[in-house]
Amino acid sequence: MTQLLLPTSTAGSLPKPSWLAQPETLWSPWKLEGQELIDGKQDALRVSLQEQQTAGIDIVSDGEQTRQHFVTTFIEHLDGVDFEQRRTVKIRDRYDASVPSVVGAVSRQKPVFVEDAKFLRQQTDKPIKWALPGPMTMIDTLYDGHYKSREKLAWEFAKILNQEARELEAAGVDIIQFDEPAFNVFFDEVNDWGIAALERAIEGLKCETAVHICYGYGIKANTDWKKTLGSEWRQYEEVFPRLQQSSIDIVSLECQNSHVPMELIELIRGKKVMVGAIDVATNAIETPEQVADTLRKALQFVDADKLYPSTNCGMAPLARAVARGKLNALSAGAAIVRNELLG
Ligand SMILES: [Zn+2]
Repeated sequence: MTQLLLPTSTAGSLPKPSWLAQPETLWSPWKLEGQELIDGKQDALRVSLQEQQTAGIDIVSDGEQTRQHFVTTFIEHLDGVDFEQRRTVKIRDRYDASVPSVVGAVSRQKPVFVEDAKFLRQQTDKPIKWALPGPMTMIDTLYDGHYKSREKLAWEFAKILNQEARELEAAGVDIIQFDEPAFNVFFDEVNDWGIAALERAIEGLKCETAVHICYGYGIKANTDWKKTLGSEWRQYEEVFPRLQQSSIDIVSLECQNSHVPMELIELIRGKKVMVGAIDVATNAIETPEQVADTLRKALQFVDADKLYPSTNCGMAPLARAVARGKLNALSAGAAIVRNELLG
């Protein structure tokens, strides 16, 4: 794909324009409908892409302008899930949410994001990355009244994700990323079947594949949870050894302002690492030097040709000017370290 040293990217979403959805709000409902919504999403994608390219981001995305929620927008397109029958469940062992129910065999009748990915592909010659939810995070966002087995349901979703991923690859996507924040919570399940399900989702793909494991958006349920994790966050230590052995190409991590000991990255030596060098839970814009400092620390544990500077997580809830400032800081910080490496 790209031969550039330290190619920059974002882990996930970017803010939506105020005419498309309420700004600075997570999972904000659409302001448009019908054809206007379809056109509006495409216009927002163009704007988001242009902002990434202007900031000098090397691996670009749709900024998730095409979806309201990183999990449920995908699930909405599947058969077997009833969005009217809602149950309250605890998500990631952390907060109660009213979620849809699995009422029958799950299946994908038609592609979900493939047309959007083709549209993005037409707009840019840069490498593009597309995010899908991971199987474990999908099952953790539903009430299952049909399979009555988290593992079985995850496996069915993995097969569906694989169908979608193969079509995204054919549409010209260079990196397919699976968002698995649940990997930071259910360690036994991750090792028993979570990583196996992820490998089922990427089976047969020739494009690069990534898994994004984070501590979540800067919302209260997450910041409260983080306060309980102590001074050193060692969650990654539970899943990295098995992940290192897996067929996934890239691991996307939260490193900026987090309490994750950087040396844990050593446990996935050999993998490409998307190092989060931008904190998404604060409006303070990092200086290029702060970004460079995080990247230099990561370079102790990742070979330079495998280091991908990125953000900790998505930036959808941030003000647009803040997100733009952070994209610029990411580029500038990566440029500092790139110049140091090239002497
Ligand atoms: Zn994230």
